[in-house]
Amino acid sequence: MLIDRYARRFTYLRLSLTEFCNFRCTYCLPDGNDCDSRAGELTLPEIRRLALAFARLGTRKIRLTGGEPSIRRDLTDVIALCKSTLGIDKVALTTNGYQLQRRVREWQQAGLDALNVSVDSLDPHVFSRITGVDRLHAILQGIDHALALGIPQVKLNTVLLRQHNADELPAFLRYVKDKPVALRFIELMRTGDNVDYYQQQHLSGDVIRQQLLADGWQLQLKGQTDGPALEYAHPDYQGRVGLIMPYSNDFCSDCNRLRVSSQAQLFLCLFTEQHQSLRHLLQDDNPEPLMAFLQQAVLGKLASHDLHEQRSGQTRHLAMIGG
Ligand code: SAM
Ligand code: SF4
Repeated sequence: MLIDRYARRFTYLRLSLTEFCNFRCTYCLPDGNDCDSRAGELTLPEIRRLALAFARLGTRKIRLTGGEPSIRRDLTDVIALCKSTLGIDKVALTTNGYQLQRRVREWQQAGLDALNVSVDSLDPHVFSRITGVDRLHAILQGIDHALALGIPQVKLNTVLLRQHNADELPAFLRYVKDKPVALRFIELMRTGDNVDYYQQQHLSGDVIRQQLLADGWQLQLKGQTDGPALEYAHPDYQGRVGLIMPYSNDFCSDCNRLRVSSQAQLFLCLFTEQHQSLRHLLQDDNPEPLMAFLQQAVLGKLASHDLHEQRSGQTRHLAMIGG
């Protein structure tokens, strides 16, 4: 088991497959990619060994993220490999949706259990202003395709931005009225690169929470491997609405997640100076040394991030680690 000094159990691995991305989200990579090569990205054998060691230590869910994970040509193989790892019950993917329409069937056939697509606005102009890509319509079609294929869990991620989408709650509610999807507002997080943007655009998720509660939405219970979102349901709506509020006081108290970057670095937290290379432990098939390393490493995990003190560790942007 992976258990830290605060009795938190880690059953959920967020695995970044690349730092590269083909979008330029204003809060993340406003100038596009800032790494010039894809050298050193985890290989399939390394991912297989990593998944096995984590699974042996009680990990039940792996989320593939990035950068943009669908940039990897072998993404389908990575999904299949994670899914076939004994102990892994759930393989999830977070994507900007660029390749969704074209590839979601092969991902589903490889065993994808859960899909999160980033959709920061339902207005095509606002969407392209935020992401630098004029493709909202195709991405929404991709989401419909994923639902039609029967992917068990489909979610939308929306970064809450004061001047761009904070007034879109009615449109998002209309979207989830008849669709079995969960739409989650994520509070904008401050990173090394977005300090000014954060000052202009950050808005507390409480604004949305108050509106939901006033309209009769009710908080739902969480499962063991669920992420940090608080999800709300309403009898008149097929879909749900969630909030991810890293700035709320007790956000870290039930943390169940660890992160590994595409460069094989273990990150104990999204906002930390603490990262350690696992590369040398991924070179042969014996999982024991890696398991021992991980068990020791989690003991160094701090109780909480320091975002409240405006410290975001060495994280320049979330494409580095995978959000
Ligand atoms: N490229 C994929 C995507 O956009 O879904 C996966 C990687 S992205 C880093 C993962 C999630 O982090 C996305 O939902 C994105 O909107 C979110 N994100 C990125 N930067 C953020 C920030 N500064 N604050 C809050 N969420 C952020
Ligand atoms: Fe790319 Fe995702 Fe960052 Fe947007 S949020 S720039 S899609 S990594």
